[in-house]
Amino acid sequence: MLVQCCKTLKRLRSCRSLSAAANLQNTATSLGQAVRLADTVDVLDLQESADLLCVNLMCEKVGDPCICRLSRVLEKLHHLTRLNLANNQLISLPDSIGQLEQLQYLDLSNNRLQSLPDTMQHLRHLKVCHLD
Ligand SMILES: [Zn+2]
Repeated sequence: MLVQCCKTLKRLRSCRSLSAAANLQNTATSLGQAVRLADTVDVLDLQESADLLCVNLMCEKVGDPCICRLSRVLEKLHHLTRLNLANNQLISLPDSIGQLEQLQYLDLSNNRLQSLPDTMQHLRHLKVCHLD
């Protein structure tokens, strides 16, 4: 599919702007999808996500916003360049966020974060971080 697209695009010599290019990114919008696409996903959009409400009966935060599942999933996503966690009422972030070595864009707006993990100092490619 991608190869076919590229062949077609080469014929569009006069095209100056190609908004569909964004769709060539591998985007996941749930933790389950992120796990399935773990080897290739580069964008994870969990804005206002039900996936960040804890369903783990063994966790003290069950029923509330929680990062226990997110923490395990992030460890698997080595190619992520964009992560959106806006609007989730999170009070903390998992240490594993520091393993996202390729991360360039991080949106944490509209949460209740009291601190950021020290591991975030490893995010050497981070260019944009929304915290408001
Ligand atoms: Zn939990």
